[in-house]
Amino acid sequence: MKFTPTEDQQAVQATARDFATHEVLPKAAEIDREHRHPAELVKRMAELGFLGIAVPEQYGGSGLDHVSYVLAMEEISRACASTGVIMSVNNSLVCDPIYRFGTEQQKQEWLTPLASGKLLGCFALSEPEAGSDAAAQKTVAEKQADGTWVINGTKNWITNGPVADVCVLFTMNDKAAGHRGITAFILPMKTPGVRVGPPDDKLGIRGSKSSQIFLDDVRLSQGHVLGEVGGGFKVAMSTLDGGRIGIAAQAVGIARAALEDALAYAQQRRTFGKPIAQHQAIQFKLADMATEVDAARLLTLRAAWLKDQKLPYGKEASMAKLYASDVANKAAREAIQIFGGNGYVTEFPVERHFRDAKITEIYEGTSEIQRLVIAGHLAKGG
Ligand SMILES: Cc1cc2nc3c(=O)[nH]c(=O)nc-3n(C[C@H](O)[C@H](O)[C@H](O)COP(=O)(O)OP(=O)(O)OC[C@H]3O[C@@H](n4cnc5c(N)ncnc54)[C@H](O)[C@@H]3O)c2cc1C
Repeated sequence: MKFTPTEDQQAVQATARDFATHEVLPKAAEIDREHRHPAELVKRMAELGFLGIAVPEQYGGSGLDHVSYVLAMEEISRACASTGVIMSVNNSLVCDPIYRFGTEQQKQEWLTPLASGKLLGCFALSEPEAGSDAAAQKTVAEKQADGTWVINGTKNWITNGPVADVCVLFTMNDKAAGHRGITAFILPMKTPGVRVGPPDDKLGIRGSKSSQIFLDDVRLSQGHVLGEVGGGFKVAMSTLDGGRIGIAAQAVGIARAALEDALAYAQQRRTFGKPIAQHQAIQFKLADMATEVDAARLLTLRAAWLKDQKLPYGKEASMAKLYASDVANKAAREAIQIFGGNGYVTEFPVERHFRDAKITEIYEGTSEIQRLVIAGHLAKGG
């Protein structure tokens, strides 16, 4: 067992840290305050090869591994969780399923521009009445006599929805077949009948644009079906297994931001004649935060490593997301406590970490759903 990243992994981490520190962090507060999609940072991530890290170079990606992806995600999310999730969705929820389930033609046409950052993707599974219960899809795809699919429905909370060029879309084409009646499509967002709702007004990750997507008699050819007809649920669930590693890394980044900001503040803020970092109550908080951030990172790296080894990783990805999201929320809460009154105002960054952390317990499967997934693996002896 080795705990040292390879030279390639260290190089990605160093590049991501440099970019995050010098280009992302200085803008994070403004992106949050203005609810602004950071288009210029997305462009830079494309140039740095961060939008398709684990996609082979022949399809426009960086040809690296998922450990590298996790290392980069942590750095960027440490600076700005909104920028982190834009990157995570494109890598994990869009490029990954097209790489694993797409035909050669689909990879040439869609994966190559997505992985190189010429296009940006979104992933539309959730609906007003299908969140945790993702199989309860009401968006309907009907095949016509000429082979064309006609799609009608509404998708909810779609990250990157207002700014995406391409969508990995899930539909029900055979209700009687239950989850085996779900089919995935690659949907160009400019297709007639696609309408994007206004951006959601959110508690946190305010620079990440999400919205409803309305589908009104959208017509797609058979060439847009991703994977097999009726195989969409498998595409969705296996994609979310990988996505959870990315969100775990986002959570580690937010937790680390809370820890680093709290440590720096505690070293300069003085009460009762000494820095608060010398009061044992504050030291214990910082020690717990540091220990938990490390544990969350190790769980996340293990899940990424298993994926790279092509070993089963679903349970470990859920464990990483469950734990890291809890750690992010706890660390952000403690950071506010360490900042005292300054933790409660927008002049300092920790209230943003507190608001950003919450989403990691909700999307790509709530913490309750992660526990169900983990328990399901345990019941099967996995
Ligand atoms: C900012 C944001 C971005 C998002 N981005 C995307 C995206 O890009 N693409 C996408 O498809 N979706 C996206 N989502 C949707 C997200 O994945 C869902 O919100 C999430 O899965 C929960 O679904 P829900 O909101 O319908 O809650 P519900 O499913 O209604 O759950 C409500 C509560 O009940 C609990 N619960 C539900 N069922 C069970 C059960 N069986 N046992 C125990 N507890 C249960 C849940 O844990 C939760 O606490 C996003 C959501 C948000 C808020």
